[in-house]
Amino acid sequence: MTKNYMTYPLKNMRITCRYDEGSHRNHCINVADGLVDYPIDDAGIDTGRDPIYCCCDEMKVTNVQGVGNGYTNTIWLVSTSPVVTPTFTDIAYIALTHSNDSDLKNIKVGDTFKRGEIICYEGVDGATANHIHMSCGRGYCDNWKQNSNGAWIMTPGTSVKPEDVFYLDRSFTNEIWGGSLNWKELPTEEKKIVGTPVSRNPSVNQVEVLVDNLNARSDPSTTSSSNGYIRKGIYQVLEEKKQVDYVWVKVESYWIAMNENWTKYYPKEESTSTCQEELEQLKETYPRLIFRCNKTGKYIIYLEAGKSLYLN
Ligand SMILES: [Zn+2]
Repeated sequence: MTKNYMTYPLKNMRITCRYDEGSHRNHCINVADGLVDYPIDDAGIDTGRDPIYCCCDEMKVTNVQGVGNGYTNTIWLVSTSPVVTPTFTDIAYIALTHSNDSDLKNIKVGDTFKRGEIICYEGVDGATANHIHMSCGRGYCDNWKQNSNGAWIMTPGTSVKPEDVFYLDRSFTNEIWGGSLNWKELPTEEKKIVGTPVSRNPSVNQVEVLVDNLNARSDPSTTSSSNGYIRKGIYQVLEEKKQVDYVWVKVESYWIAMNENWTKYYPKEESTSTCQEELEQLKETYPRLIFRCNKTGKYIIYLEAGKSLYLN
């Protein structure tokens, strides 16, 4: 990326609790002493444990708590240089809670992660089902403190709502459920566009991409990684696969989901030259015959008033 954008750190966004819901309300609603943060729970795709990735050029671990003791496992990370977020450009932090001991036991304060590297995974330490509880904000952060509602608040630093800290990079994150929060798209100049369209060729199966934000995926599934957006235009269809969600087609080395709103499919046409020759021949032999079926199919025939149609 040309700028140090702060991007959402999971490949599957499925928010199971917003900052203003459930137990999170104690973090930011009716807090007498004003000590607040805005955590969200993300449970990723609903099988196994999704990884949490480093979400800017580099982050440094500032604290790890809970491994081998009674606290709920939590790891704090701060960007090593200013990041660009939808609302500020500054040092930013994230704090991740519920990863398992096995994920955090080898991580030390001072360890660094580069963009895209896995920090840890969703877990069940202090939770009943795999998820990650995540707080974020502006500035430095390496601790927590209980507020007047009894909630553990990440501190110091200024807590900021996640939709104001992370851009949503749709070529990386698949939004299964964004919690109806107002996520901002990663600025368009940062989105990779892939694919080299070809000319229309009726003798092969082709697909036309009609929109400029269709993911070019590594596998025929919305959970597989995206290589960017496929360029608008026509492509040769190399393979087709019907899945429960979409019919997927392979173009170049990418899989794209088919839907009439964003793609148009052009099935291979029967060779027209031989048909044409045959039709010319028929016209000479039977001057009144204008059409003959070569195979069973459905045809629409328009008749002028007063004309008759004979079938044999
Ligand atoms: Zn939570």
